[in-house]
Amino acid sequence: MWLAARRMDAALAGKPLQRTDFRVPRLATADFAGQQVTGVVSRGKHLLTRFSGGSTLHTHFKMDGTWQLYRPGQGWSGGPASQVRVVLEVPDRIAVGFRLPVVEIVATGDEPAVVGHLGPDLLDDETWDEAEALRRLRAAPDRQLGPALLDQRNLAGIGNLYKTEGLFLSGLTPWVTVGEVPDLDGVVRRTRRLLLANRNHWQQTTTGSTRRGDDHWVFERRRCRRCDGPVTTATQGEPGFERICYWCPRCQAGPGP
Ligand SMILES: [Zn+2]
Repeated sequence: MWLAARRMDAALAGKPLQRTDFRVPRLATADFAGQQVTGVVSRGKHLLTRFSGGSTLHTHFKMDGTWQLYRPGQGWSGGPASQVRVVLEVPDRIAVGFRLPVVEIVATGDEPAVVGHLGPDLLDDETWDEAEALRRLRAAPDRQLGPALLDQRNLAGIGNLYKTEGLFLSGLTPWVTVGEVPDLDGVVRRTRRLLLANRNHWQQTTTGSTRRGDDHWVFERRRCRRCDGPVTTATQGEPGFERICYWCPRCQAGPGP
């Protein structure tokens, strides 16, 4: 999301909108043609596209959504037309949002209403606040560590891949409770380091290798890249927020499901 925002910002910011097209019923009559895009930023997994008239387009990818950038006349490869939710056109670029489950317009001054619940953003160098993230995590010491790290209200930006690999590098299973972790700050720092190392490219490696099948320690693997032992999988999380966990019982200490 961070990288998508950077690309969107580079393509759209400072340019006049020639056409906007919102293919969601609630925004069918919204039209920002004639305004400029003033900037595109990410907040956790939320994308905020700001317009010069004082409105912000708030979108969220959830699992499957995507923003794609095209040149005028280029075919749209992000999915069938029925999956297009938003089109933003500037003179030399067309940004198309496919399968976005969240598309809404808010006043730019009201952005906190949609992203204000988020914890400190691990990828925002200016506002990242480790102490505040740790305070939020520690406020629920009985919670399992996996879901706690994924909860964007604690700290914003960790998805299932980084949770999985950060826990591997910390030697902890996702089922340890927050209060049982001796160096929670170490877990957060390691996971943040993985995010920072990957934020400028699409391919996501946590091992340093970009070779396919070699780029993760346990995530989506059958055997642990370090010890070659079998990787265990199980579903974890509150209803509606379940994620598949991968962990190596030899390399990671702590309980299972
Ligand atoms: Zn292992």
